[in-house]
This record gives sequence, structure tokens and C-alpha cells, in this order.
Amino acid sequence: MKTYKEYLEACMAAGAAMRTIGETIGGRQIQMLTKGEGIPRALIVGGIHAREHITTDLLFALTAAYDGKTALDIVPALNIDGILLAQNGLNGLTMRMKDRAFLLRTNRGSEDFSLWKANLRAVDINNNFDAGWGQGKGNVFFPAPSGYVGSHPGSEPETQACVRRMDSGQYALVVAYHSKGEEVYWGFRSKRPYPEEARRVAEALGYSLKETPESAGGLKDYWIEKTGRMGLTIEVGEDRFPHPYPVSELPVLIKKHKDIFALFGEIAERLWMNGL
Ligand SMILES: [Zn+2]
Repeated sequence: MKTYKEYLEACMAAGAAMRTIGETIGGRQIQMLTKGEGIPRALIVGGIHAREHITTDLLFALTAAYDGKTALDIVPALNIDGILLAQNGLNGLTMRMKDRAFLLRTNRGSEDFSLWKANLRAVDINNNFDAGWGQGKGNVFFPAPSGYVGSHPGSEPETQACVRRMDSGQYALVVAYHSKGEEVYWGFRSKRPYPEEARRVAEALGYSLKETPESAGGLKDYWIEKTGRMGLTIEVGEDRFPHPYPVSELPVLIKKHKDIFALFGEIAERLWMNGL
């Protein structure tokens, strides 16, 4: 597997432009890649939950391969701190003793962080957005490996970086990548925009299309709540595999998703031209 830096370099060698859209709790730069011509009309975000780092590998591969005309913005590793923690444990990160102690305590004393989902403040970024914040199933109100909503909506710098992009007004489509279950989630509460387009994405992947009645505080929840535009959560990978999703299965995922960026581009372009 390539390192994060090697992946970024490979994408730039394949024609992607890179920019920093924010900084994590751990002081790492959050990078966004842009591929295509003109103003990007779709935003695609992965690596939101630490242990779902297979989505980061997948988005890097799809970004390098994308040669469509419609420009796309891709954030392959929003929670880069958490990903490094899940992959390498505490020894993979440089941090203060007090932060190490906090993470160890929050992980119930275990040095195995492979199932960790949150960021370094033990906030679950996908429960931290300002959309029904604190009302989701599985929400917790104290630091935890998963499910902690944070001290207030948008409290985390990773969330804020993403919100700044979504508030830019330039996107017709926002897609959040998670793992696993082979599902495409659409809509937020009573807002259910673009069912036909959502169905097209699910059918192209062979995934089931579902609604998310118990979801709140998520990235796509925020996007739909705020704009009423098309937003999806895609859960990649089969449920029979464990977390973290085996890297040996990456080629299968890449094959399944190989035309999906082109479809995102086509849908986003059309929605934008039609005035949303
Ligand atoms: Zn997830």
C-alpha cells in the first residue's frame, strides 16, 4: 500500500490539483484534490471514520483514474489523524503525554485502536455536523471511540473544514464514503431530494438504496438540511468482511466503483445546468 503522501503525489502526477482546506486536531493538513475542468460541481469525502480507511485508498485510486470533463473535488482522508491512529496505534503519532493518556483511557486501556472511528478528541465527526445534532441513534455525550457528538455542533476542525466547502455554494452533489454494507443512503428526515438520481447511483454499484430515519449530525445530513440538494452516503464493501475492511479486497472495490466518478460528474453537471 502507498503512504498518504505517495497517494497524493500519484494523484498529482495523474493531473489532480491539490489544496489544503483545513487542519486537524493533531495539526495535520486536510488535503483536497481537484480533477477535471472548470468549477467543481461535486464534493466527495472519505476517511471520515478512522477505521474505514479503505475508503481513503478507494478515493485515491478513483481520483487518479478519473478522466471526466466535469470537475470534482475529492477529500480522501478528512479524519487523517484518526486514520493514522487506527492504522498504527499511539506509536504512529507524535503527541503530548496527556493526549496519549486521554486516548488510552477513552479506548478502555487498550493499545489496539484498529476499530477506532473518532478523531483525536474522541469526537465522531459524522455525528458532529449541525443537522439534528445529538438526536441520532447511537449518539453518546462523552468522549468515545465512536458516537460522541462533540461539545457543540461543528466543534471539530475536521467538521469545519468540510462545512466551509459545503457552504461555498458551488456544489450540486455531495457524497460521503463509509464502509461497509453495500448501501447507498439518501435523504434526511422529510427532505428527500432527487430519488431518481440516487437510484441511478445505487443501481450502477449494485448496492441497495435506503433512507436514514435514525441518522443525525452527519455530513450528508448537513448538506441536505442546509441546501436541499442531492447528498448521498455510500457504504462500500460487503458485510461478510470485518472492520477494518481487508486491503486485499481493494481491487474488487475499485473495479465496482470505476465508473462512479463519471456518473457523479454527469449528474452534478445536469443538476447544476437545470438550476438544481
Ligand atoms: Zn462510517
